Parts: sequence; C-alpha cells; structure tokens
Amino acid sequence: MKAEPTRLADGVFMVGGPDMTDPRDCLCYLVAGGEARVLIDCGAGPSAANILDLVDQAVGRPPTHLLITHAHIDHAGGAAEIKDLTGCQVLIHAEEAGVLAEGDAQRSAATWYGLPLRRITADRLVAGGDALGLGGEARLHIIHTPGHTPGSICAWCDVGGQRVLFGQDVHGPFSPGFNSDIAQWRSSMEVLLNLEADILAEGHYGIFKPAEEVGAFIRAQLRQHQGA
Ligand SMILES: [Zn+2]
Repeated sequence: MKAEPTRLADGVFMVGGPDMTDPRDCLCYLVAGGEARVLIDCGAGPSAANILDLVDQAVGRPPTHLLITHAHIDHAGGAAEIKDLTGCQVLIHAEEAGVLAEGDAQRSAATWYGLPLRRITADRLVAGGDALGLGGEARLHIIHTPGHTPGSICAWCDVGGQRVLFGQDVHGPFSPGFNSDIAQWRSSMEVLLNLEADILAEGHYGIFKPAEEVGAFIRAQLRQHQGA
C-alpha cells in the first residue's frame, strides 16, 4: 500500500483510503493551519494508527480535531482509537452522535462491513454554519447536508485562493436503514453547487478539480437519482 500522504493544496492532504491504509476505509483528509489540524474522517477502524502515521508524515504533529462527516463505519470506525492515541477533540453532528455513542451496527453500516464498531461519545456537536478556526484568518466551515444520512455534514475552506470542499458520500448511497432522504439530498447538493468549490475531496471517488469538474460530478449524481 502507498504509505505517503497526498498533498491537495497548502496544508490540505489525503491521509487515508483504500489504496493507502485499508480497503474498507473511506478517503480521509487533513486540513492544517497554524493552530489546528483537523482530520476529516478516520476510516473503518483497523487502520487508525496508520492514518495517524500519515498525518505525522504530512505535518509532523497529531491532529487536534477529528471531524466526522457521518457515523458510517468506513468514516468513523477509527474514532475511538484515534481519540485514545491523540486526545483530539471529536466532532460530529447531533443527528449522528447517538449512532456512535450507542454503537448502532445498522445505522453505522457496521453489519455491512462485518466489523465491530467501538462506541465513542463526541466531545462537541457541530451544526451547519459553525466554523473551526485553523489559525489566523483560516477557517473550516461546516455545512449540514442531510440526505445520505440525517446528520451528514460537509466542510470547506479557502486556501491559497482556492476553495476546497470536503464532500464525503456526496454520491450516496441511499437506504432506509441509514434514514436516507433523497429530497433533502437534492437540496443539499444545490447548496454544494452554490459554493462553486475549486477542489472537491470526495469520500470514495477521489479528487475533482477544477471548479467545472466539481460541478459536473455533483450534477451527474443529481441526474443519476432523478425521479428516485
Ligand atoms: Zn456513508
């Protein structure tokens, strides 16, 4: 497996994923500023230490925060171990927090993956409109994007004149077991399109850039689920 972080922009790296850490991991990202280093999603669990190793390779220090975009195990399974190893602040939307706190094997999709989900209680609940200070003027903005799951969030930041959007599971999938809502998802995708991001860091499909490619990918997803 490839064992080095991929740089997307100044202070922005991919630090985990199926080709880097574990086939069951979503793509995991790191945004680092002068004061905070935010890990965005943390894989299915078995690779938690490897992801931290890639964070260390990227910025030489552990994450200060773990922002979980939703409670599916491929995004959140490593949270308890990463908390144990670093003491970082674990952040998630209120509508997802219970899934992790209760170790809900269905809503976390742990049953699909055949992996145990270690319970964890988040340190802080985040909501759309919140922003995390990264240092100086730099901020990581949170958007509530329900659809795939009720408490799915995306995050974005402006770095070096480029807008980077972390849009995990923008593509779905949708399932009653996840409490998915396609109508809400469509509205969420419109919000993402309006951001006019230059780079989309997706949770499973990789990196899309420039802005035209980001828009084209999101619109293609919307077309695929037309009338669904
Ligand atoms: Zn998911």
